[in-house]
Amino acid sequence: MGTKFTLIGSGLAGGLLAAYIGRRGYEVDLYERRADPRAGNFVGGRSINLAVSTRGIHALQQLGIAEEVLQHAIPMPGRMIHDKSGGLHFAPYDRDPKNYINSIGRAALNTTVIEAALRYPNVRVLFNHLCIDVDLDSATAHFSRRSESKGGTPSPPLPGYGAADAATDQRVVSSADAIIGVDGAFSAVRQSMHGKLDGFVYDESYLAHGYKELTIPPGPGGTWRMEKEALHIWPRKSFMMIALPNPDGSFTCTLFWEFAGPRSFETTKTNDDVRRFFDEEFPDAVPLMPTLLEDFWENPTGSLVTIRCAPWSYKDKVALLGDAAHAVVPFYGQGMNAAFEDCIVLDECLAEFADDRERAFTEYFVRRKENTDALADLAVHNFIEMRDKTASKTFRAKKKLDHLLEGLLPGLYLPLYTMVTFTRMPYATAAKRARLQDRIVYTSLAFLLLLAAIAVIYLVVG
Ligand SMILES: Cc1cc2nc3c(=O)[nH]c(=O)nc-3n(C[C@H](O)[C@H](O)[C@H](O)COP(=O)(O)OP(=O)(O)OC[C@H]3O[C@@H](n4cnc5c(N)ncnc54)[C@H](O)[C@@H]3O)c2cc1C
Repeated sequence: MGTKFTLIGSGLAGGLLAAYIGRRGYEVDLYERRADPRAGNFVGGRSINLAVSTRGIHALQQLGIAEEVLQHAIPMPGRMIHDKSGGLHFAPYDRDPKNYINSIGRAALNTTVIEAALRYPNVRVLFNHLCIDVDLDSATAHFSRRSESKGGTPSPPLPGYGAADAATDQRVVSSADAIIGVDGAFSAVRQSMHGKLDGFVYDESYLAHGYKELTIPPGPGGTWRMEKEALHIWPRKSFMMIALPNPDGSFTCTLFWEFAGPRSFETTKTNDDVRRFFDEEFPDAVPLMPTLLEDFWENPTGSLVTIRCAPWSYKDKVALLGDAAHAVVPFYGQGMNAAFEDCIVLDECLAEFADDRERAFTEYFVRRKENTDALADLAVHNFIEMRDKTASKTFRAKKKLDHLLEGLLPGLYLPLYTMVTFTRMPYATAAKRARLQDRIVYTSLAFLLLLAAIAVIYLVVG
């Protein structure tokens, strides 16, 4: 039997990675704690739609599934800013109208990547398996197996484990040549590394804001009750609400708001509190949100975390990928796109160092770490831009100047948002280049202002 990988977590990146590794001909067992999303029992816990852009699309294209995914996507060529008086301002994301981000359903995407993985006969997916521990040296994973889950399909018996064994104690052990933890921000695989490896560096930082999903249902006949092709933003300085369109005519809104403080999730205790807050802050959205109160009380309040750790691998036995290695806050719409990019880089490293998996894992970490660290900073910074600056005229003028310079200096000047979202330039390079461009532009502007001032003085005095 050839090399076998155990992948833990079949979220967005887990399914895609299983397809990539399966394509290389390795044996892959992909374990997921939840029930099979293909049985229609998708339990999110995360945004139900999200934006996919160039990097993510490229990763899907390599497996020939981009069209399948994008057929249900809704293009969003710009931001629609809602001010407090109900005024609307549209700001395109890019100079080129062909550059847009795409709103896609998380469940549909998850199903597509799992199905893509299962096209390879050497890939198996096992649902209802919660990883509880990993033995790093032997690449052995321990699972608690739920034989049934609400509305879910019971998993088939594991290879090498009779149904009777599994049914009696519900504990499953799986050994492989290597384990990859693709089990999200609260990764059990990473926890095992953290607990067992000397020198493992771990840092988590939570925003003071949480998020809550709310709904704008479809209009009559499945129509959209706001502009369909835009990412809607209600920027309110210290907090904001956004909305992304869904194919059924609805919008998924996400409120990003302080957990604590005079006006916050914590102090909002009654229906009147909720109504008052929304009437004051989002008056144009309220009439479109008939289930506001139910949504507000029933939907959980999620937290927003940045996770950095190092290293991402242990010998040739264990590696981390996606949010498990580098969770970022969602304000650049890049977490999944970056996780998909990880899949490409890991796949390339496994090909390049086919006889030395430890080197492949290390090389993958070296190629990605600087970039995901840069993305983490960009994402936090973009929260301030979205919730505060998008409302201002200066922001809109800066975006116009960006697009003007891009047109005047083709290939030389690229706005940061364009580099991050519409190219595959490494995130760290994009961040550095943007800083340099800003320095040149501001220095030139200062110089021009100085020249203008000298000219005025010369005309007046002389
Ligand atoms: C509100 C919000 C909005 C976002 N919007 C965007 C966006 O627009 N664009 C974008 O690119 N990114 C976005 N993201 C980020 C994106 O959701 C993540 O980066 C992406 O889901 C990471 O994929 P992943 O596979 O690494 O982790 P996940 O998608 O979280 O998948 C992890 C999987 O592992 C499973 N699992 C966890 N623990 C275990 C265990 N112990 N045993 C077995 N299985 C386990 C989970 O059930 C899950 O299926 C957003 C995130 C949030 C919170």
